[in-house]
Amino acid sequence: MKVLGIETSCDETGVAVYDTDSGLRAHALYSQIALHAEYGGVVPELASRDHVRKLLPLVRETLREAGMTTSDLDGVAYTAGPGLVGALLVGAGVARSMAWALDVPAIGVHHMEGHLLAPLLEDDPERGRPEPPFVALLVSGGHTQLVHVEAIGRYRLLGETLDDAAGEAFDKTAKLMGLPYPGGPQLAALAEQGRPGVFRFARPMTDRPGLDFSFSGLKTQVLLAWKESDRSDAVRADIARGFEDAVVETLSIKCERALEAAGCDTLVVAGGVGANKRLRARLDEMTRKRGGRVSFPRPQFCTDNGAMIAYAGALRLAAGQHGDLAVRVTPRWDMASLSPVAPLRDP
Ligand code: ATP
Ligand code: MG
Ligand code: FE
Repeated sequence: MKVLGIETSCDETGVAVYDTDSGLRAHALYSQIALHAEYGGVVPELASRDHVRKLLPLVRETLREAGMTTSDLDGVAYTAGPGLVGALLVGAGVARSMAWALDVPAIGVHHMEGHLLAPLLEDDPERGRPEPPFVALLVSGGHTQLVHVEAIGRYRLLGETLDDAAGEAFDKTAKLMGLPYPGGPQLAALAEQGRPGVFRFARPMTDRPGLDFSFSGLKTQVLLAWKESDRSDAVRADIARGFEDAVVETLSIKCERALEAAGCDTLVVAGGVGANKRLRARLDEMTRKRGGRVSFPRPQFCTDNGAMIAYAGALRLAAGQHGDLAVRVTPRWDMASLSPVAPLRDP
């Protein structure tokens, strides 16, 4: 089954084709970062309009790359939520219209389920694909969640952030030290040059039981350290390193706790912060010590992309699930309300 996936929940237009027989066939991404940079954040109306401009050319480009035409498609998947309502409606409108015209089924995918399943999208030649039950750490720009994945589609929330998401904390911290929007990846790059231990920030909420997070206080600690410093490039790098170490260690401590609580050996990590090199190394070390494993998507598929939506949609369409003809989106949507679906065989 060949499924076109469309992602337009925020500021990335992503398109991909996933084939349940042969795996990922093609994918293309257009990021609106430059468009929103001068405002220092995503402007919803500009995001919707830009999706309108970019989506159909990207669909054509992806099909060309896959060596396919629209008549080869057996289904269409699109992000139905959570996300910006106008941006979501662009993807949903195009996806539903194409499916209607081609007389194939379409399905609305939960964006965070897309992220969560991204580590399963491509085979790991050494260890194979992770199989439920496992614990998922979702660390993106809008979410920081620990989820017990009992089966694909059966998600139990173990803990989440009470304030800022991990990616949001990276972005805000970068901004207050004068890095351009969106600063998360740049802050991480800067941390590579910083010395460990020069600045030591708190590991929030690790001194008490529980699986929730809080990252907003960390930002304030960084602000104070930055204001009191000489604001040199070297200090900025040292602070970045101290901040990154604090976030990485906090996430690792909570992941280990979540694995204990759920009685699992396998951890999967998804969302933009999952691209962070130090986080990847640290979680690999932690899970190995426990005799388990961790899986990540390739860095490119940690942040928003069409491939994860094509894959998540293909799982559900192949199981016979699909929506009706209405163009409907769900800007706020609880992942625990999803229905389970059997995993696919390896292509
Ligand atoms: P959500 O999925 O919750 O709606 P989103 O889609 O905006 O949010 P993603 O695209 O998954 O989030 O991830 C973007 C976030 O990842 C940004 O906050 C960015 O700063 C962060 N990020 C990307 N690369 C890195 C990195 N190497 N280190 C730390 N953070 C990173
Ligand atoms: Mg984005
Ligand atoms: Fe996302």
